[in-house]
Amino acid sequence: MGAKVAIIGRPNVGKSTLFNRLVGKRLALVDDTPGVTRDRRPGDARLGDLKFTIVDTAGLEDADSASLEGRMRRQTEEAIEEADVILFVIDARAGITPLDAHFAALARKTTTPVILLANKAEGRAGAPGIYESYSLGLGEPIAMSAEHGEGLADLYDALKPHV
Ligand code: GDP
Ligand code: MG
Repeated sequence: MGAKVAIIGRPNVGKSTLFNRLVGKRLALVDDTPGVTRDRRPGDARLGDLKFTIVDTAGLEDADSASLEGRMRRQTEEAIEEADVILFVIDARAGITPLDAHFAALARKTTTPVILLANKAEGRAGAPGIYESYSLGLGEPIAMSAEHGEGLADLYDALKPHV
């Protein structure tokens, strides 16, 4: 169904919260569908009149630290490969971390369009992170709050040409 949109970013930036908001319901954490890994959950998403398949890169938090970086890299590369559009999420309250920069380097290598989302930006608390995120080289960030549903109109405008 339609375009495939992948959500990528380091753990704890709000990827699953965004996924749940766009899918409009909470999906089970474990997906038993054959061939569907728990790490890359697809869901039918809707934003205004846009309909697309969204893929959450989840489950990384459970990995042991030795394999974490390799798994994250592999999963992110696979998500990028499969996607028509990428949502690259950062935590605007935390600012840019070395791990964000590491993921951004992967995202900059692709010709797939990347939309930079500065999440947790409700109530202007994310302002410093929003400015810092320009340094990722992924263009202008969209300030949003997955938890509070803010910035979705800007996300709509950014997604519309691609889905
Ligand atoms: P993931 O690891 O990237 O999938 O992140 P999660 O979606 O699991 O969220 C990590 C934490 O950030 C949770 O405690 C969420 O409630 C919180 N969170 C997610 N989105 C927002 C937001 O827009 N604002 C704030 N303040 N917290 C958020
Ligand atoms: Mg998650």
